[in-house]
Amino acid sequence: MASTEKTKRSLAKQCPQCSQALPEGERPSSYPFCCERCQLIDLGQWLDGGYGIPGEPCGDIDPGDEA
Ligand SMILES: [Zn+2]
Repeated sequence: MASTEKTKRSLAKQCPQCSQALPEGERPSSYPFCCERCQLIDLGQWLDGGYGIPGEPCGDIDPGDEA
């Protein structure tokens, strides 16, 4: 029996940022983005989008007072 027919789903994996087709079988460190740049761009948009980051740095962290 020759299994010539591959049930290959058309998983259109593409970069959500630039819509560029991602290499199949290969997952870059920037996955699901095609490259690091797209990842950064998306991240930037995400940060700049609705999520307002509080500008108050919580650097004063107590080591923990044992009660
Ligand atoms: Zn991309």
